[in-house]
Amino acid sequence: MTAAIYLAKGRDKSLLRRHPWIFSRAIHHVQGEPVSGQTVDVYSHDGQWLAKAGFSPQSQIRARVWSFEPTDIDTDFFIRRIRQAQQLREPVIHQGQLTGYRLIAAESDGLPGITIDRYGDYLVCQVLSAAAELLKPLLVEALKTCFPECHIYERSDVAMRKKEGLPEQVGVLHGSAPTAPVIIEENGIKISVDIINGHKTGFYLDQRDSRLHAMKYVQDKEVLNCFSYTGGFGLYALKGGAKRVINADVSQPALDTAKANAQLNEFDLSKKRAVFLNADVFKLLREYRDQGTQFDVVIMDPPKFAESKAQLNGACRGYKDINMLAMQILRPGGTLLTYSCSGLMDQMLFQKIIADAALDAGRSVKFVERFSQAADHPIDSAYPEGFYLKGLACKVL
Ligand code: SAH
Repeated sequence: MTAAIYLAKGRDKSLLRRHPWIFSRAIHHVQGEPVSGQTVDVYSHDGQWLAKAGFSPQSQIRARVWSFEPTDIDTDFFIRRIRQAQQLREPVIHQGQLTGYRLIAAESDGLPGITIDRYGDYLVCQVLSAAAELLKPLLVEALKTCFPECHIYERSDVAMRKKEGLPEQVGVLHGSAPTAPVIIEENGIKISVDIINGHKTGFYLDQRDSRLHAMKYVQDKEVLNCFSYTGGFGLYALKGGAKRVINADVSQPALDTAKANAQLNEFDLSKKRAVFLNADVFKLLREYRDQGTQFDVVIMDPPKFAESKAQLNGACRGYKDINMLAMQILRPGGTLLTYSCSGLMDQMLFQKIIADAALDAGRSVKFVERFSQAADHPIDSAYPEGFYLKGLACKVL
């Protein structure tokens, strides 16, 4: 049965601006009895047709727009969206010779609640909304049509699914699971990705451009790569001619992979050129400061500190603290490459936090470059929330 959402008076503005979310408080009434995830028509208060959306009865975001055109939300719809996303990325894939990239960045690619990363011949999906969950079989059909050579694996093991009333889910959706880590290549660097046990879908593809930009600062330098995960920035630093790279993380499996990655790329690792340290970065930075150990370059790429607005103040303190410590262990004229993947923290706030950290560290800082998420993580002009990753290259005098 067709169902529909009628918006409250004056609540159609964001949809007319093509923002894809419909919050529960914007809804006047729901017509019919849509099941969780069902596609519904959306109307303004005075009956103007606005969009087709997927219904999420348990979420504050009560519906997410699939299309602002009156089209069927079927396998063909998914095929069109996937082809458009692939096309958008072709130049980026070509330039970086990428065999790992984000194919679908959810709302930013017109497929709310769906993230798909490609690693070699594996497509790894994360399905985060009730509607995407209900239409998953169509999505899988569409992916099989667009990428007949690929296996499809699901990594929907994220707590966010609870908000949609969905359990966590992992496993093969098509083909088979890899029996060994998948090796991808970006910018001539090989990276081993564990799509079954790794973080997120296996790798932090979003930092690819920043890793490349980092290379210009490292030649003959001593580099501390904080929150290294599987060595991403560290590998680029080795390729960029760093004298020594210390990779620090609390995850031993990630560090083991980081070491394997360094070997995979056949970097000269004699004279302990690369070190893989299992350490809590917060403690490690204090130890280095207290011992007077110094570096030429510090890379600071922590996990997301703010998951909600309530956590933003605490997150600001956390970012200020680690960045202050990083500045304190930098030699005069050293470089701090620092990032925040908390979407709730905007670019100016992040810059202000680094400025505060500079004051506390008693150092003069010049911002020399600004970074953003890699080009395969686009931002739709109607959906500014898609901009989440920010970075700064700082000369610390
Ligand atoms: N820079 C990485 C991605 C970092 S993700 C890349 O380019 O691929 C964040 C990492 O921080 C994870 O690997 C996680 O294990 C690690 N981590 C979280 N808390 C930590 C802590 N207190 N000390 C050290 N590492 C930590």
